[in-house]
Amino acid sequence: MVENQEKNIESKVAIVTGGSRGIGASIVKKLAQNGYIVVLNYNKSEKEAKEIENKFDNIYSYEADISNYDEVKGLIDFTINKFGKIDLLVNNAGIDLVKTINDTKIEEFDKVLKTNLYSAFYTSKEVSKYMINNKSGKIINISSIWGIIGASCEMAYSVSKAGLDAMTKSLAKELGPSNIQVNSIAPGIIDTDMNKFLTKEEKEQIISEIPLEHIGNVEDVADCVLFLANAEYITGQVIQVNGGWNI
Ligand code: NAP
Repeated sequence: MVENQEKNIESKVAIVTGGSRGIGASIVKKLAQNGYIVVLNYNKSEKEAKEIENKFDNIYSYEADISNYDEVKGLIDFTINKFGKIDLLVNNAGIDLVKTINDTKIEEFDKVLKTNLYSAFYTSKEVSKYMINNKSGKIINISSIWGIIGASCEMAYSVSKAGLDAMTKSLAKELGPSNIQVNSIAPGIIDTDMNKFLTKEEKEQIISEIPLEHIGNVEDVADCVLFLANAEYITGQVIQVNGGWNI
Protein backbone atom coordinates (compact mmCIF):
# COMPACT_ATOMS: atom_id res chain seq x y z
CA MET A 1 0.00 0.00 0.00
CA VAL A 2 1.30 3.47 -0.87
CA GLU A 3 1.93 5.91 1.93
CA ASN A 4 -0.53 8.82 2.21
CA GLN A 5 1.66 11.75 1.13
CA GLU A 6 -0.88 14.58 1.29
CA LYS A 7 -2.96 15.21 4.38
CA ASN A 8 -6.32 16.82 4.96
CA ILE A 9 -7.75 16.72 1.44
CA GLU A 10 -11.34 17.68 2.04
CA SER A 11 -12.65 17.10 -1.49
CA LYS A 12 -13.71 13.62 -2.45
CA VAL A 13 -11.35 11.88 -4.88
CA ALA A 14 -12.67 9.91 -7.86
CA ILE A 15 -11.04 7.80 -10.56
CA VAL A 16 -12.91 7.46 -13.85
CA THR A 17 -11.53 4.95 -16.33
CA GLY A 18 -11.92 5.80 -20.00
CA GLY A 19 -12.64 9.43 -19.17
CA SER A 20 -11.31 10.93 -22.39
CA ARG A 21 -14.41 10.56 -24.57
CA GLY A 22 -18.13 9.78 -24.61
CA ILE A 23 -19.85 8.76 -21.38
CA GLY A 24 -16.62 8.78 -19.37
CA ALA A 25 -15.80 12.39 -20.34
CA SER A 26 -19.28 13.45 -19.22
CA ILE A 27 -18.88 11.62 -15.88
CA VAL A 28 -15.49 13.29 -15.32
CA LYS A 29 -16.93 16.76 -15.93
CA LYS A 30 -20.05 16.12 -13.84
CA LEU A 31 -17.99 14.97 -10.85
CA ALA A 32 -15.53 17.85 -11.20
CA GLN A 33 -18.41 20.35 -11.35
CA ASN A 34 -19.73 18.82 -8.14
CA GLY A 35 -16.56 19.29 -6.15
CA TYR A 36 -14.69 16.03 -6.73
CA ILE A 37 -11.00 15.84 -7.51
CA VAL A 38 -11.08 13.58 -10.56
CA VAL A 39 -8.32 11.41 -11.96
CA LEU A 40 -9.22 11.02 -15.63
CA ASN A 41 -7.78 7.81 -17.03
CA TYR A 42 -7.29 7.63 -20.78
CA ASN A 43 -5.51 5.28 -23.13
CA LYS A 44 -5.20 6.56 -26.71
CA SER A 45 -7.06 9.89 -26.67
CA GLU A 46 -4.40 12.08 -25.06
CA LYS A 47 -5.48 15.25 -26.88
CA GLU A 48 -9.10 14.92 -25.71
CA ALA A 49 -7.99 14.08 -22.15
CA LYS A 50 -5.69 17.12 -21.95
CA GLU A 51 -8.41 19.40 -23.32
CA ILE A 52 -10.76 18.37 -20.51
CA GLU A 53 -7.98 18.59 -17.92
CA ASN A 54 -7.07 22.12 -19.03
CA LYS A 55 -10.60 23.41 -18.52
CA PHE A 56 -10.70 22.46 -14.81
CA ASP A 57 -8.27 22.84 -11.93
CA ASN A 58 -9.54 19.69 -10.21
CA ILE A 59 -9.06 17.17 -13.05
CA TYR A 60 -5.80 15.23 -13.44
CA SER A 61 -5.29 13.03 -16.49
CA TYR A 62 -3.35 9.77 -16.34
CA GLU A 63 -2.51 7.49 -19.25
CA ALA A 64 -2.98 3.78 -18.64
CA ASP A 65 -4.17 0.81 -20.64
CA ILE A 66 -6.78 -0.43 -18.22
CA SER A 67 -6.54 -3.98 -19.55
CA ASN A 68 -2.98 -4.18 -18.19
CA TYR A 69 -2.67 -4.91 -14.45
CA ASP A 70 0.69 -3.17 -14.05
CA GLU A 71 -0.64 0.00 -15.70
CA VAL A 72 -3.71 -0.10 -13.43
CA LYS A 73 -1.40 -0.31 -10.41
CA GLY A 74 0.38 2.79 -11.77
CA LEU A 75 -2.95 4.64 -11.98
CA ILE A 76 -3.90 3.76 -8.40
CA ASP A 77 -0.41 4.56 -7.05
CA PHE A 78 -0.50 7.95 -8.83
CA THR A 79 -3.84 8.77 -7.18
CA ILE A 80 -2.84 7.62 -3.70
CA ASN A 81 0.56 9.33 -3.89
CA LYS A 82 -1.06 12.61 -4.90
CA PHE A 83 -4.25 12.64 -2.85
CA GLY A 84 -3.92 9.92 -0.23
CA LYS A 85 -7.36 8.39 -0.75
CA ILE A 86 -9.92 7.21 -3.30
CA ASP A 87 -13.59 7.81 -2.46
CA LEU A 88 -15.13 6.78 -5.77
CA LEU A 89 -14.10 4.44 -8.57
CA VAL A 90 -16.05 4.51 -11.83
CA ASN A 91 -15.21 1.58 -14.10
CA ASN A 92 -16.34 3.07 -17.39
CA ALA A 93 -13.70 2.19 -20.02
CA GLY A 94 -14.98 -0.26 -22.57
CA ILE A 95 -14.83 -1.47 -26.15
CA ASP A 96 -17.40 -3.14 -28.35
CA LEU A 97 -17.06 -6.01 -30.82
CA VAL A 98 -19.78 -6.66 -33.38
CA LYS A 99 -19.08 -10.10 -34.88
CA THR A 100 -20.68 -13.51 -35.14
CA ILE A 101 -19.25 -16.15 -32.84
CA ASN A 102 -17.61 -17.87 -35.82
CA ASP A 103 -15.87 -14.68 -36.91
CA THR A 104 -14.73 -13.82 -33.39
CA LYS A 105 -11.03 -14.59 -33.02
CA ILE A 106 -9.72 -15.91 -29.71
CA GLU A 107 -7.55 -12.82 -29.27
CA GLU A 108 -10.53 -10.52 -29.97
CA PHE A 109 -12.60 -12.26 -27.29
CA ASP A 110 -9.64 -11.95 -24.90
CA LYS A 111 -9.28 -8.23 -25.67
CA VAL A 112 -12.95 -7.45 -24.98
CA LEU A 113 -12.91 -9.42 -21.72
CA LYS A 114 -9.60 -7.87 -20.62
CA THR A 115 -10.72 -4.31 -21.42
CA ASN A 116 -14.29 -4.48 -20.11
CA LEU A 117 -14.15 -7.03 -17.28
CA TYR A 118 -10.62 -7.87 -16.10
CA SER A 119 -9.98 -4.12 -15.93
CA ALA A 120 -12.72 -3.73 -13.30
CA PHE A 121 -11.24 -6.64 -11.33
CA TYR A 122 -7.80 -5.00 -11.47
CA THR A 123 -9.03 -1.55 -10.40
CA SER A 124 -11.44 -2.86 -7.74
CA LYS A 125 -8.75 -5.17 -6.31
CA GLU A 126 -6.29 -2.28 -5.96
CA VAL A 127 -8.76 0.39 -4.83
CA SER A 128 -10.78 -1.69 -2.37
CA LYS A 129 -7.87 -2.11 0.02
CA TYR A 130 -7.74 1.66 0.55
CA MET A 131 -11.52 1.87 0.81
CA ILE A 132 -11.62 -0.97 3.35
CA ASN A 133 -8.96 0.84 5.34
CA ASN A 134 -11.09 4.02 5.30
CA LYS A 135 -14.32 2.09 5.97
CA SER A 136 -15.84 4.10 3.14
CA GLY A 137 -16.05 4.09 -0.65
CA LYS A 138 -18.15 3.60 -3.73
CA ILE A 139 -17.58 1.59 -6.88
CA ILE A 140 -19.76 2.13 -9.95
CA ASN A 141 -19.48 -0.21 -12.92
CA ILE A 142 -20.81 0.93 -16.30
CA SER A 143 -22.26 -2.25 -17.76
CA SER A 144 -24.92 -2.44 -20.51
CA ILE A 145 -28.41 -3.54 -21.43
CA TRP A 146 -26.68 -6.31 -23.40
CA GLY A 147 -25.29 -7.84 -20.22
CA ILE A 148 -28.90 -8.27 -19.08
CA ILE A 149 -30.66 -9.46 -22.23
CA GLY A 150 -27.77 -10.42 -24.56
CA ALA A 151 -27.07 -8.91 -27.97
CA SER A 152 -26.97 -10.91 -31.17
CA CYS A 153 -23.50 -10.80 -32.76
CA GLU A 154 -22.06 -9.13 -29.65
CA MET A 155 -21.43 -12.21 -27.53
CA ALA A 156 -18.04 -11.19 -26.13
CA TYR A 157 -19.37 -7.73 -25.21
CA SER A 158 -22.55 -9.15 -23.64
CA VAL A 159 -20.53 -11.68 -21.60
CA SER A 160 -18.17 -8.97 -20.37
CA LYS A 161 -21.07 -6.79 -19.21
CA ALA A 162 -22.96 -9.64 -17.55
CA GLY A 163 -19.71 -10.42 -15.74
CA LEU A 164 -19.52 -6.82 -14.54
CA ASP A 165 -23.03 -7.03 -13.09
CA ALA A 166 -22.10 -10.27 -11.29
CA MET A 167 -18.97 -8.55 -9.95
CA THR A 168 -21.17 -5.70 -8.70
CA LYS A 169 -23.46 -8.03 -6.74
CA SER A 170 -20.65 -10.17 -5.37
CA LEU A 171 -18.53 -7.21 -4.24
CA ALA A 172 -21.59 -5.45 -2.78
CA LYS A 173 -21.96 -8.42 -0.42
CA GLU A 174 -18.24 -8.74 0.30
CA LEU A 175 -17.53 -5.04 0.81
CA GLY A 176 -20.84 -3.92 2.35
CA PRO A 177 -19.65 -4.58 5.92
CA SER A 178 -16.78 -2.17 5.19
CA ASN A 179 -19.32 0.54 4.23
CA ILE A 180 -18.47 0.30 0.52
CA GLN A 181 -21.37 0.50 -1.94
CA VAL A 182 -20.99 -1.22 -5.31
CA ASN A 183 -23.51 -0.67 -8.12
CA SER A 184 -23.83 -1.00 -11.87
CA ILE A 185 -25.34 1.42 -14.34
CA ALA A 186 -26.58 -0.42 -17.43
CA PRO A 187 -27.16 2.08 -20.25
CA GLY A 188 -29.29 1.29 -23.28
CA ILE A 189 -28.21 3.18 -26.38
CA ILE A 190 -26.31 6.41 -25.74
CA ASP A 191 -25.14 8.86 -28.39
CA THR A 192 -21.34 8.31 -28.51
CA ASP A 193 -18.62 7.12 -30.89
CA MET A 194 -19.38 3.55 -29.83
CA ASN A 195 -22.57 3.65 -31.92
CA LYS A 196 -21.06 5.39 -34.95
CA PHE A 197 -21.33 2.17 -36.95
CA LEU A 198 -25.15 2.21 -36.83
CA THR A 199 -26.93 3.45 -39.96
CA LYS A 200 -29.70 6.08 -39.78
CA GLU A 201 -32.24 3.32 -40.46
CA GLU A 202 -30.83 1.10 -37.70
CA LYS A 203 -31.04 4.00 -35.23
CA GLU A 204 -34.63 4.72 -36.25
CA GLN A 205 -35.51 1.06 -35.74
CA ILE A 206 -34.02 1.12 -32.24
CA ILE A 207 -35.79 4.38 -31.38
CA SER A 208 -39.11 2.84 -32.43
CA GLU A 209 -38.60 0.23 -29.67
CA ILE A 210 -37.84 2.80 -26.93
CA PRO A 211 -40.88 4.10 -24.98
CA LEU A 212 -39.22 7.51 -24.46
CA GLU A 213 -38.69 7.68 -28.24
CA HIS A 214 -35.11 8.88 -28.31
CA ILE A 215 -31.53 7.77 -27.85
CA GLY A 216 -29.95 8.68 -24.51
CA ASN A 217 -27.21 11.24 -24.09
CA VAL A 218 -24.05 11.07 -22.04
CA GLU A 219 -25.49 13.36 -19.35
CA ASP A 220 -28.22 10.82 -18.61
CA VAL A 221 -25.55 8.37 -17.47
CA ALA A 222 -23.40 11.01 -15.72
CA ASP A 223 -26.45 12.18 -13.72
CA CYS A 224 -27.01 8.61 -12.54
CA VAL A 225 -23.35 8.30 -11.52
CA LEU A 226 -23.68 11.45 -9.40
CA PHE A 227 -26.90 10.11 -7.86
CA LEU A 228 -25.20 6.83 -6.89
CA ALA A 229 -22.12 8.67 -5.69
CA ASN A 230 -24.37 10.48 -3.18
CA ALA A 231 -26.52 7.47 -2.21
CA GLU A 232 -25.68 5.78 1.08
CA TYR A 233 -28.23 2.92 1.20
CA ILE A 234 -28.14 1.51 -2.32
CA THR A 235 -25.79 -1.37 -3.12
CA GLY A 236 -25.62 -4.40 -5.41
CA GLN A 237 -28.06 -2.86 -7.89
CA VAL A 238 -28.06 -2.66 -11.67
CA ILE A 239 -29.69 0.68 -12.54
CA GLN A 240 -30.95 0.71 -16.10
CA VAL A 241 -30.67 4.01 -17.99
CA ASN A 242 -32.34 3.09 -21.25
CA GLY A 243 -35.56 5.06 -21.82
CA GLY A 244 -37.55 1.92 -21.02
CA TRP A 245 -36.12 -0.02 -23.98
CA ASN A 246 -36.43 -3.46 -22.39
CA ILE A 247 -39.67 -3.19 -20.43
P1 NAP B 1 -16.56 5.49 -26.39
O1 NAP B 1 -17.14 6.80 -26.78
O2 NAP B 1 -16.09 4.55 -27.44
O3 NAP B 1 -15.38 5.76 -25.34
C1 NAP B 1 -14.68 4.68 -24.80
C2 NAP B 1 -13.76 5.18 -23.72
O4 NAP B 1 -13.10 4.00 -23.17
C3 NAP B 1 -12.68 6.10 -24.25
O5 NAP B 1 -12.46 7.15 -23.32
C4 NAP B 1 -11.45 5.19 -24.33
O6 NAP B 1 -10.24 5.87 -24.06
C5 NAP B 1 -11.71 4.24 -23.17
N1 NAP B 1 -10.95 3.00 -23.33
C6 NAP B 1 -11.11 2.01 -24.24
N2 NAP B 1 -10.16 1.06 -24.07
C7 NAP B 1 -9.39 1.47 -23.02
C8 NAP B 1 -8.26 0.93 -22.36
N3 NAP B 1 -7.70 -0.23 -22.75
N4 NAP B 1 -7.74 1.60 -21.32
C9 NAP B 1 -8.28 2.80 -20.91
N5 NAP B 1 -9.34 3.36 -21.51
C10 NAP B 1 -9.89 2.70 -22.54
O7 NAP B 1 -17.60 4.64 -25.54
P2 NAP B 1 -18.85 5.11 -24.65
O8 NAP B 1 -20.06 4.94 -25.47
O9 NAP B 1 -18.57 6.39 -23.98
O10 NAP B 1 -18.86 3.91 -23.59
C11 NAP B 1 -18.44 4.07 -22.24
C12 NAP B 1 -18.90 2.85 -21.46
O11 NAP B 1 -20.32 2.75 -21.52
C13 NAP B 1 -18.36 1.54 -22.02
O12 NAP B 1 -18.04 0.65 -20.98
C14 NAP B 1 -19.53 1.01 -22.83
O13 NAP B 1 -19.50 -0.39 -22.95
C15 NAP B 1 -20.68 1.47 -21.97
N6 NAP B 1 -21.95 1.53 -22.69
C16 NAP B 1 -22.11 2.38 -23.76
C17 NAP B 1 -23.33 2.41 -24.43
C18 NAP B 1 -23.58 3.31 -25.60
O14 NAP B 1 -24.65 3.17 -26.24
N7 NAP B 1 -22.69 4.23 -25.93
C19 NAP B 1 -24.37 1.57 -24.03
C20 NAP B 1 -24.17 0.72 -22.96
C21 NAP B 1 -22.96 0.72 -22.30
P3 NAP B 1 -9.18 6.30 -25.23
O15 NAP B 1 -9.98 6.88 -26.36
O16 NAP B 1 -8.31 7.30 -24.51
O17 NAP B 1 -8.41 5.07 -25.62
